[in-house]
Amino acid sequence: MSAKWSPAGERRRARDLTPREAKAQLNRVYRRDRGICQLCDLPCTRADASREHKIPLRDGGSNDDGNVVLAHKLCNNLADQQGQTNLRSYTSQSEGWDDADG
Ligand SMILES: [Zn+2]
Repeated sequence: MSAKWSPAGERRRARDLTPREAKAQLNRVYRRDRGICQLCDLPCTRADASREHKIPLRDGGSNDDGNVVLAHKLCNNLADQQGQTNLRSYTSQSEGWDDADG
């Protein structure tokens, strides 16, 4: 496992959503999470919104809404690359960081 970037033809994941399903789910989690990125707790515009899997599909996570949260596209990418623990140190540099949960 030395690849740091998976090529398009990587092994199949459990089950991916169709683009239409993914968009519908993004709409749902955007409303559910009130437009707040669940990785950095900052407001997220609809154009910047993406779905973040709490348990990655490659680790056996599902596409249920319960496993998906709203995240900035940037935060989502960072989480993929670094893992969510390191994301905290990145986002804590931003003004308005608030550790309140829920
Ligand atoms: Zn974010």
